[in-house]
Amino acid sequence: MARVPFVCGNWKMNKNVPASLELVDELLGSVGPIQGVEIGIAPTFLALHPVRKKIQAGKLRLAAQNVHFESDGAYTGEVSVSMLKDLGCDYVLVGHSERRQYFGETNASCAKKTGAALRGGLRVIYCIGETLAERDAGRHFDVVSLQLREGLTELERGRASDLVLAYEPVWAIGTGRTATPDQAQEMHAHIRARIAETFGAEVAAELRIQYGGSVKASNADELFEQPDIDGGLIGGAALDAQGFLSICRSARSRG
Ligand code: PEP
Repeated sequence: MARVPFVCGNWKMNKNVPASLELVDELLGSVGPIQGVEIGIAPTFLALHPVRKKIQAGKLRLAAQNVHFESDGAYTGEVSVSMLKDLGCDYVLVGHSERRQYFGETNASCAKKTGAALRGGLRVIYCIGETLAERDAGRHFDVVSLQLREGLTELERGRASDLVLAYEPVWAIGTGRTATPDQAQEMHAHIRARIAETFGAEVAAELRIQYGGSVKASNADELFEQPDIDGGLIGGAALDAQGFLSICRSARSRG
């Protein structure tokens, strides 16, 4: 069965609530005719509720940028799976490299978050990828394999269809430097092979693997035409409606 590509904009800590709603309005004005691609946005926590009200049950999927693995309790500043579900979130990002780099997120905490989110009915975009030093040392395949092995320990085979992976080489995030289509495809094929080993060929064949790292309208086509790249996780370029929509159209054109 052909995988439906998924393009999700990660707005990070950009856009306050009015600016988020403005961007959503622009997207809603043009997203309708884009077929054959799932499209999501991950605004700041504060905008999730008003954005949900605006997009209603339409075409845009709503993603949170983070979640805590405990269901409730004394965890100041944290947000639980059920809180995100109540707001109408569809997805949550887990293990983004900025969370790993600045907030101490580890493969082990990602495993807990992924497990809690999937059990609680949220779909997960689990982000993985090597640093430049790791690539230069020739360790990139090992690093990503470990992120998969340790970060997916709570994934039950029956819930695998609610998981999306995002391969984001850290050296390509926000740097303007993109992995070449060959580099990206090579890693995506590696990831799919590791998933097949652990969860079986059927799960691997259906799993969507996004590419992320300085994707823009001008390089999206060549990345998305790779056989194992199923859309993208988009940072900077997602803050501009026309650029983001163009990237979404590139994902669609592959199918
Ligand atoms: C990201 O943060 O997930 C990302 C891919 O950022 P950018 O597109 O800006 O490199």
